[in-house]
Amino acid sequence: MKVLFTGIQPTGLLHIGNYYGAIRNWLDLQYKYDSYISVVDLHAITIEYDPKDMRDNSFELALGLFACGLDLKKTKLFIQSEVPGHAELTWIFNTITPLGELERMTQFKDKAKQHRKNVNVGLLDYPVLQAADILIYKGEIVPVGEDQVQHVEFTREVARRFNARYGDTFPECQAELTATPRVMGIDGDSKMSKSKGNFIGILESREDIWEKLAPAPTDPARVKRSDPGTPEKCNIYSYHQLATPEPELTEYVAEGCRTAGIGCLDCKRKLLENLMKVLDPIQERYATLSTKKGEVRDILDRNADVCRKVSGQTILEVKERMGLTPIWKI
Ligand code: SF4
Repeated sequence: MKVLFTGIQPTGLLHIGNYYGAIRNWLDLQYKYDSYISVVDLHAITIEYDPKDMRDNSFELALGLFACGLDLKKTKLFIQSEVPGHAELTWIFNTITPLGELERMTQFKDKAKQHRKNVNVGLLDYPVLQAADILIYKGEIVPVGEDQVQHVEFTREVARRFNARYGDTFPECQAELTATPRVMGIDGDSKMSKSKGNFIGILESREDIWEKLAPAPTDPARVKRSDPGTPEKCNIYSYHQLATPEPELTEYVAEGCRTAGIGCLDCKRKLLENLMKVLDPIQERYATLSTKKGEVRDILDRNADVCRKVSGQTILEVKERMGLTPIWKI
């Protein structure tokens, strides 16, 4: 079975952008590949953050991911900083990475603009840590959105460079693009994100979600109830396409929009109904898991143990090849 690696930052909550943009895809892939899924807290500390929230945020995210349907027994969900090999391999990869390549990364340029007062080395080195995350488990499959494809390419380059210099060690991974690469925020202006406040949280109540949906912008052509609209120009319709699995129901909404057969509020109510069919079971599982936090913590501990063993083997192999002293010989 090929190895899959992917990561998600502990930002404090999961929203439907995370769910439809990434997590739903992982739920299928976890049975196809030997899956390592990491709460990447070492990545999260490259920008300003509050240390007192970090540990709770990481645990809550893990809880949320299990509630979404990650297999508690099969998928190795773990917290990145609990596996020291990631940082160790990053340093090793730093020594074979040209600085210019990192400076050219689109995400670095964007983040450097966004966080002008904190352009730290970690921000620049982010793709190297990502390469280490993947390659330490000899990952071959990396489910990502389009904005991360450049980093997967970079990881392939790191593997090639290492293999050329020290001998064949790492596979060349490939990006597995999600079917929904970009979920727009409820404002319809930019990608859904916690920092922009334009999200629908997966644990939000029906009433709270409705408060966000009801005033959300739609196709501006639908000024009056009798004005026909173009669903493809409406962000609400894009949510229908995600949340309504039955094509005939999506078509019913599209047709109703084009002919002014349904009003925008009816359309949004239908969306809420379909969205809650997905979110209700997640919220129920979350409530159950929240009463068993000790068990969830034990699972994360066991997963971290497995990850330390697997990554430790890779570090040993790397050190042998590089002429460094493996720790067990000291
Ligand atoms: S009917 Fe639905 S798809 Fe059409 S504009 Fe209104 S909310 Fe959007």
